[in-house]
Amino acid sequence: MRLSTQLLGAITGITLLALLVFGAVAYWIMTEAGEKRRAELLAHLAGDILAEFLARDAAAPDSSRVAALHRKHGPPGSLLAVWRGEAVAVVADGPVPPGLSRRLRVLAGEGRRRGRLRLRGADHRWAMAATPSGEAGVFLAEPRRGTDPDAATLRTRLLVTGVVILWLAVWVALILAALISRRLEEKNEALRHQALHDGLTGLPNRTLLLDRLAQVLLAARRRPVSFALLLMDLDRFKEINDTLGHHFGDLLLREVGRRIQASIRENDSLARLGGDEFAVLLPDTGREGALLCATRITRHLQRRFSVEGLHIETRASIGIALYPEHGDDGVTLLQRADVAMYQAKRSGNDFALYDPGRDSHSVRRLRLMGELREAVSAGQMLLHYQPMLDLRSGAVSGAEVLVRWRHPELGLVAPGEFIPLAEQMGAIHPLTLWVLETALARLRAWRREGIEMVLSVNLSAHCLQDASLPATVESLLHRHEIPPGALQLEITESALMHDLDRARDMLGRFHTLGVHLAIDDFGTGFSSLAYLRRLSFDELKIDKSFVRDMCSDPNDASIVRAVIDLAHNLGCRVVAEGVEDDRTLARLRELDCDRVQGFYLSPPLAADDAGRWFRDHGHRAADPPDDDGGARRDRGTDRDQPRRS
Ligand code: C2E
Ligand code: MG
Ligand code: MG
Repeated sequence: MRLSTQLLGAITGITLLALLVFGAVAYWIMTEAGEKRRAELLAHLAGDILAEFLARDAAAPDSSRVAALHRKHGPPGSLLAVWRGEAVAVVADGPVPPGLSRRLRVLAGEGRRRGRLRLRGADHRWAMAATPSGEAGVFLAEPRRGTDPDAATLRTRLLVTGVVILWLAVWVALILAALISRRLEEKNEALRHQALHDGLTGLPNRTLLLDRLAQVLLAARRRPVSFALLLMDLDRFKEINDTLGHHFGDLLLREVGRRIQASIRENDSLARLGGDEFAVLLPDTGREGALLCATRITRHLQRRFSVEGLHIETRASIGIALYPEHGDDGVTLLQRADVAMYQAKRSGNDFALYDPGRDSHSVRRLRLMGELREAVSAGQMLLHYQPMLDLRSGAVSGAEVLVRWRHPELGLVAPGEFIPLAEQMGAIHPLTLWVLETALARLRAWRREGIEMVLSVNLSAHCLQDASLPATVESLLHRHEIPPGALQLEITESALMHDLDRARDMLGRFHTLGVHLAIDDFGTGFSSLAYLRRLSFDELKIDKSFVRDMCSDPNDASIVRAVIDLAHNLGCRVVAEGVEDDRTLARLRELDCDRVQGFYLSPPLAADDAGRWFRDHGHRAADPPDDDGGARRDRGTDRDQPRRS
């Protein structure tokens, strides 16, 4: 039964009960009051009769005179007795009860003046009036059922009033109940809405989405149709939130919600699952429709956002799962859409359809995440070193330090797979410290063997957030007795561009320390030249994607040439990474590239192999960079062909 109906019933019931009780009490009070009035009236009549008797009849009462008095004063059905001395005359409408005279004497003797008694088999109220000596007196009794006309009128009025009050009360109760129940329904509705919607965007939340998903599933099973579930999150939202504040982040999320809503049909469902994660349920939609919708959402989100006067760009990665192709229950579909979203992220595409072939990846990813923290302390991490050749001196001038995870069951895991996970779970700082510590310890050992070189260590974008890192690096260098110039830190171009001011500050502090700095994977991060000018760094590393095909692709060749010229004009050195053959090496030489790194020279090697490689290749330190970090370009020195290791 609905709450409002229950409330209505309860209020009506209580009102009726209250009215019944009230009626009964009122009736009782009324009856008592009538009885009292009647007794008083009777006493009054008795007094009048006595007065009249005493005034007119001095002698003993005679029956005809008493009958006259009875007629004049006695109420219908009453009994009148008048006495004087021993003589008593009784008049009644009916037979006179035997022994009455004696009872009168007893009552008079007791001094009582009114009361009730049974006469002729019926209840009577009586009143008595007597002279002070008791020598003469009057007794008047009437049956109790004799109704008081005033009381009858009152009772009728009470009844009518009661009915009216009842009628009014029921109506008031009904109206009140209706009002209260409406308020309750509204409150209930608000609570229901709150429980099923997201407070920030007003969109359905995960619970409601799951509910709708269950309904769509039921419908889809009844009449076989397909539907799609899209899961998306915003790239870089955490940074936006951290940099511009939560208020800004909230406003952005609302706008994102509005834009996604504008990209879907009316019967599609959009939900915010939490944070920057949204989901869209597309009933009656197949593969084509889902892809079309994802394209539309991407297009809407690509437009620049304008929040509180700030213009910002963001994009979403969308994962798509289809029913029944990718799963026939809600949990599976959600999980698969999540995997697809991750696949989109990794591939750098705006959206991806769930690909079962790549799904083991997600299980593997979860596993790696679970075991990553312990891996460092369990001694499962190791470092490889990839030599770098100085093209001018022909000497091995340094090596890049590349971390690997030797997983007891999965084998060697590449950093490209676990570094993003470490960043995501906040485990990158301890890992970086371990890499620095181990690399510097190794460098110290090599230096003792006479192998002098510059080791290049990669720093993640997250490391730039750690303000204490320069001091930590300084103390590590000190502890391992390594001069700062023997350490180079590589930061990817995209990491620098995330938070340019912080990056500039960090690079400045490392620069002051005397540590060398390189911009890694240059050409992939869309940095503007104006920004580049403001950063202090020593080396640009051209990304291997340009180097790999530069001999076959004139565009790549042009980019490599332009980067080399740009770096030299900015006063720094250039390293080409990913050199895989001698043609590329020769071409880089022609273009005046300073250093090379790649499989052609040597793949990354384990520490012992690397030490052997350096000794075998007649290692000697290349010209160290200038103390001011500027490039050292003594062009035209010997350019020995490197040897393949
Ligand atoms: P990166 O810093 O650009 O490192 C160069 C990557 O190119 C290495 O991959 C290396 O093995 C690979 N490479 C070298 N020569 C060639 C070549 O001739 N051809 C091709 N195709 N590839 C070549 P790796 O070791 O898998 O590292 C991948 C990325 O992981 C690194 O890119 C770096 O960004 C990151 N990484 C590695 N170690 C660390 C680390 O200790 N800390 C951080 N934060 N990132 C690291
Ligand atoms: Mg690197
Ligand atoms: Mg690189």
